[in-house]
Amino acid sequence: MFKNSIKRLFELKGKNAIVTGGTRGIGYQIALDLANKGANVFVWSRNKEVNEKAVKSLPIIHNDQKHTGIVCDLSKTNKLDETINEIKKQVSSFNNGDNKIGILVHSAGITHSELLFKKSSNDNNNYNNNYNSINDNSNEIMTTNLLSPILITQSFLKDMMRLKYGRIIFIGSVVSEMGNRGQTIYSSSKGGLNGFSKSLSKEIGQFNCTSNVISPGFIDTDMSQQYINNELINSIPLKRIGNTKDISKTALFLIESDYITGQNIRVDGGLY
Ligand code: NDP
Repeated sequence: MFKNSIKRLFELKGKNAIVTGGTRGIGYQIALDLANKGANVFVWSRNKEVNEKAVKSLPIIHNDQKHTGIVCDLSKTNKLDETINEIKKQVSSFNNGDNKIGILVHSAGITHSELLFKKSSNDNNNYNNNYNSINDNSNEIMTTNLLSPILITQSFLKDMMRLKYGRIIFIGSVVSEMGNRGQTIYSSSKGGLNGFSKSLSKEIGQFNCTSNVISPGFIDTDMSQQYINNELINSIPLKRIGNTKDISKTALFLIESDYITGQNIRVDGGLY
């Protein structure tokens, strides 16, 4: 009995995980829970100071465990190759396990609410990553939420296939299926993840690699504060806003599962 609980504690010892958006909200909770199971965690975000603080706060539960901060803006795809090569270099130098990334959690994401017919078309014609203003641009949302997760996943696939171990989790959103006024672009980006993950699961399954989406409802983080009100809470069958642990539990469950792939799991208190 005691032996079994120790085994569970160290379940992910020697496994290497990337968590994008791992400094705050849902991603931070997943990074914490992975670290508590013994995994080495690469925490990926934009803000250097916040990143350093998050990495320092992650638990070290065995001597060989190491956590690493990665600062790179996902809305600028021209920086991705360099960052990914750096991660590969670092992980290959670890002396405690797989030496490759086996777990990939895509939690980083941005949103913006605006009715499509009110949106200025100039916002959409600004290619080449030269954005005029933060969170006011369809390109920035699509690149951060959809294109970069696709490119990052692609870069680590061969490593996972060689390892014969891969657990890929995309944090989508229930609005990809339910729809939400003002969120046409955001829900398109999340809907794209659903299709990508489903198809990917059929390509990588034979290598013991899984790909799943978690679709949260409204979760209490910085991102959701603008949407939370009593009317919303009343519309949720479980009568509460979700918390980051609600999502993290599902992420860890999927990471520790061996026979679930191609799924989109709604964790939304029954909202949809
Ligand atoms: P938060 O706003 O709390 O955290 C966002 C995280 O993503 C931060 O770590 C942030 O880093 C990082 N991030 C944002 N943009 C970039 C970028 N361009 N490059 C690198 N890192 C970036 O969000 P949540 O935890 O609430 O959301 C996590 C995911 O869950 C998102 O994909 C979101 O769409 C999805 N979701 C959230 C819901 C909710 O109600 N909260 C509902 C449904 C889905 P930094 O510290 O550098 O800013």
